[in-house]
Amino acid sequence: MGCRIDYLSPHELGGHSRLLARWLREERALHWQMKSKVAQLKMSQRGLKLSVVENFNRKDVFLFCNNILAAHRTNAFGGKPALWDFLRDIATNLNRVRQGHKFSQNFKSFAQAMKIYGGRRMCDLFALDFAGPSYSSIKRENKKGVHFIAGEHFAIFASIANIYMEAKETHGITGLVPVILAEDETKVKTRIAWEAKTNRLVGFCGPKEGHCCVSLFKPVVGDGLAGYDSIVDAFRFNMKGSFARVIMVNPLHTLLPRLVLVVSCTCNCFDSGWVRKQWNCIDSLWEECCATTVGPIIGHASDGDSRRRQLMLQDYSSKVGTRYAIPWEGWGLTAEWLGENKVKGLHDQDFIHNGKKLINPLDSAVKNLQLGADVCFLDHLGQVYQKFTID
Ligand SMILES: [Zn+2]
Repeated sequence: MGCRIDYLSPHELGGHSRLLARWLREERALHWQMKSKVAQLKMSQRGLKLSVVENFNRKDVFLFCNNILAAHRTNAFGGKPALWDFLRDIATNLNRVRQGHKFSQNFKSFAQAMKIYGGRRMCDLFALDFAGPSYSSIKRENKKGVHFIAGEHFAIFASIANIYMEAKETHGITGLVPVILAEDETKVKTRIAWEAKTNRLVGFCGPKEGHCCVSLFKPVVGDGLAGYDSIVDAFRFNMKGSFARVIMVNPLHTLLPRLVLVVSCTCNCFDSGWVRKQWNCIDSLWEECCATTVGPIIGHASDGDSRRRQLMLQDYSSKVGTRYAIPWEGWGLTAEWLGENKVKGLHDQDFIHNGKKLINPLDSAVKNLQLGADVCFLDHLGQVYQKFTID
């Protein structure tokens, strides 16, 4: 290239000019290609400034964060600790690998409720779509809770007291809330099971000889051949429970839940004396664990079962202590007055059962309906119908 134009002949000059002109065209084409490439790259790789401006303008993440902040500042999460913990746990866990996920106590309790009311499928859905704990960890967590065992136990009474104390605190309930204990039996499948933890058999309700149901009856299974013999003997000499007896706490406050206090196994052959003993045992355990934190037991509630009715009548006709009563001979509702707004023995029978007890004797020609000192027959009701017309 380094050649002076003066030294070239006109022919050489023409050839050289054509060559240079071709190079120029090629370079221009390359330049145009590069320019379009730069434009393409600019489009795909946005500058930092551009992306910041765009994100700021879009505002959805900021809006979300601002809404949460505003709700927090105005105390909109007040009284909703579970919701706050839920949002906080999700935000923390999203930035962790699955194995490192941690959940607050509120979140765990929510997952337990989901297991009880929704079952396994709801738990799986919750874990997959809402970053909740897996089903296996929900099950593991459940084992740490109170384990319900048959019979009257100090540990269960103490846990019941804790549940009510927390519920009272949550709802701002101060002072004592009186409770009524409701009870009934229901037929269940007769089944004997082995309790591995204690090496005992569960499902018997006491020895056959002179049988009386025992609520904590669990024959021990020994080792080896003796173990086999004790199993055979247990089936030979004991009664199998075919009813589940449940006693529930019914606090007289709409915001407090009803909870199961005692479950026991029975063959339904128990008598009123047995029920009285259980009531006394429950009374002393309640006095020890729950009376000062939850409230006093004012009475027992049940259906028209004759054994409980007998005890209720005993209490109503009792002359013990200072009593108050409705002064009408046909209505025996009384209770023991313990002072400081406390009463004892104010029992409650299910009104539907009582209604049936009024109606059924009138349907039968051989039964009489006793009202106080008088006996009522179907004719009396007929006269009532004739005398009073229905508007
Ligand atoms: Zn029994």
